[in-house]
Formats: sequence, structure tokens, C-alpha cells
Amino acid sequence: MNLLREKMMKYDAPQKYKAEGIYPYFRVIESDQDTEVIINGKKVLMFGSNAYLGLTNHPKVKEAAIEATKKYGTGMAGSRFLNGTLDIHVELEKKLADFVHKEDALVFSTGFTVNEGVISCITGRDDYILWDERDHASIIEGERVSFSTKYKFRHNDMISLEKQLKRCDPTKVKLIVVDGVFSMEGDLANIPEIVRLAKKYNANIMVDEAHGIGVLGANYSGKGVCDHFGLLDEVDLIMGTFSKSLASIGGFVAGEYPVINYLRHNARPYIFSASITPAATAAASAALDILKSEPDRIKRLWDLTHYTLDQFKERGFEVGPTASPIIPLYIRDDKKTFTITKMLFEEGIFVNPVVPPAVSSNDTLIRFSLMATHTFEQIDYAVERIEKIFKEMEVLK
Ligand code: PMP
Repeated sequence: MNLLREKMMKYDAPQKYKAEGIYPYFRVIESDQDTEVIINGKKVLMFGSNAYLGLTNHPKVKEAAIEATKKYGTGMAGSRFLNGTLDIHVELEKKLADFVHKEDALVFSTGFTVNEGVISCITGRDDYILWDERDHASIIEGERVSFSTKYKFRHNDMISLEKQLKRCDPTKVKLIVVDGVFSMEGDLANIPEIVRLAKKYNANIMVDEAHGIGVLGANYSGKGVCDHFGLLDEVDLIMGTFSKSLASIGGFVAGEYPVINYLRHNARPYIFSASITPAATAAASAALDILKSEPDRIKRLWDLTHYTLDQFKERGFEVGPTASPIIPLYIRDDKKTFTITKMLFEEGIFVNPVVPPAVSSNDTLIRFSLMATHTFEQIDYAVERIEKIFKEMEVLK
């Protein structure tokens, strides 16, 4: 008997949904990626992307990637630690550190490995990690790998966080880690209160700005949620990814020099994994330049976001406490969520179904996300179709 195969055969959820014709994953895109994409030869409106600024297809970003490939080649045959450091890596680290007002920064090959590598590296046996129950999987991964004591607190519940802080040894490191914008439901971490509690209990803070950079920040700065609250300087570590607003792949962490220097020599994905490709580095750098020089793009994203939220709310949709271009449309039923995703796809609308473990089982939802390049007409069409289908499926009265 093949034990491994027997064990894997018990995993029947995908087969079940495939048989019912509502399996929603791995849809293959055959075109460039903007607000319209081609899937199965058919044009669909993309409302499932994290490229909030719509820069994935920007000529300057593409050109930067092409030029970097021409100059440096296609890949890095080594980690940053050894033979994998280019001048453009160092330049981008400096640019990112300046952007989020920190002394130093490190660029990793993905955002996932930033959280995994950083959190596990800087917290040891005697230390504590305090994490929000809705934190991204990569934060949970970092926390799992760490030898520290881990305390989970209820989502954005500051009483729960304080209760957990009280349990910690006051003489040891206590790292509070939160998503700045929660990735599935679009709500913001309560950074002001987290900063207050961190001061009270002498804890440190790391904020994941994956969905904050390019979206939030004072005066459309795009510096993220911490800047939005005017508290960038109160947060010890900022992490971000290049896979969303920065139209590339990779991630970074920024903070004070001693912490970054320790990570530079000890973070395992930084030392033992090949460094980010020249093309990805140059694309992220070019996207960051555009982000900084074109605040109107961020303003446009917000105009679209407010408009869309108003449209959904007026029609009675349940959209939760989102404060970002991530708009959750709650369905609270896995099968209906998959069915509606398919029905919308047939109407030419791509959205993402979100089911456990990404959200709790009674919070399943359609994640509708906006890009600065969407048009109001595209939104009107999508809202109208979504309303029709939600009514048909009796999610909306
Ligand atoms: N943090 C958050 C909040 C995310 O949503 C993601 C990506 N979904 C990551 C980290 C990981 O980033 P990357 O895609 O660059 O690995």
C-alpha cells in the first residue's frame, strides 16, 4: 500500500468542486495584465489583482526590467551574502529605507520569505511574538519557525493584545507583528493603540505593509498604514512586498541599522536562497519611482475605491470595515462563494473567492480589488452584474 498516496487521496475538496464545475483556482491568464485579461481566449475584467497602482504593464517598469536583464543577465546564481549582490540591489535597499524613514533595509526574493525569515531570526527562545489572529500566512510561518513563546490576540482587539502583553516577562524582547492592511478584508490595524501599548509594555512593533505601500499614507504618499496614522517613526520594522503596488516580485524589511545588520548576517532566506533577479529588482525600483512622483495615481485609486464602496453599500451589500481598495463581499457559504465566482467569470468578471483558512469558515467572501487603472464604466458594469448574481443566489435581498 502506498501510504503517501492513500493519505493524499483523503484530500477530496478540489475533486468535489471540480466535479461540480465550480473549482475556481489556477485560471490561466494568456495576456498582459491590466484591468482586462484574456483567459481561455475570453476577455475578462480583472477585479482580483493586487497591482493596486496598475503598474504591471507600465512601459517604464517593463523597460527597466528589460534593460536590467540585458545588463546583468536573467538570474542570480547565489545569495546576497556571497556572489548575489548587484549595485541595483544596494541602490534599491537605500531607496526603500529612505522611503519609509528608516536607517537601513534589506531586499528579499519574496515578501513571504521576509516575514518568515525576519520574524524567526530576531526572536529567540526567551522572547515573545504577539500576533493578530488574522495575520498573513507568512507571518504565521515566521512565528512557527521561531523558538520564542507565541501569543495570539483576537483580531484588532487591543484588550486581548494587552492581556497577552501582561503575560510576557518584562525584561525580554516582545515583538508585536500585524498586517497594516488585512489582506482579505481590507481593514486597517489599530496602529495608534498598538504603539501606545508597545510603549507601555516596552515592546517592539513590526508592520506588514504588503497592501499599504502604494495605497495609504499622508497626502497620498503611498508609504503605508503607519504613515497614514503619522506613526512611521514609532514602528520598529516595516516590511513590504514588490508583488502588489510595486509590480514585481520580492520584498523588503526596513528598520534601525543594528537590527537590519543582524538580519543581513543571520536571516536564513537572505543567506541561503538566491537573491532577487535583476529584472525584478529594476522593475520594483522603477515602480517605486513612479509611485513617488505620481501621487495622482494613488488619488485616482482612492476616488475609484470610494465610488465603488458607495455603489456596493447603496445596494445593500455587506462590505465589512474595509478602509482600502480591497472590498470584501461577504457570502458566508463556501459553495455559494465558488458558484458565484464562476457565474461572475461567465459574465466576464474575475474576482477571488476567499474561503478557510484565509478567513474563518463563517466569513467566506468574494474579494473585489481595485487598481488605479480601472475605469468607472468597468466598475459600473461589475457592480451591476454582481448585484444581479447575488440576488439570484439569494445573498442579497
Ligand atoms: N504579507 C501579506 C499581507 C500578503 O498579502 C502577502 C502576499 N499575498 C505576503 C506578505 C507575501 O508577499 P509575496 O507575494 O511577495 O511573497
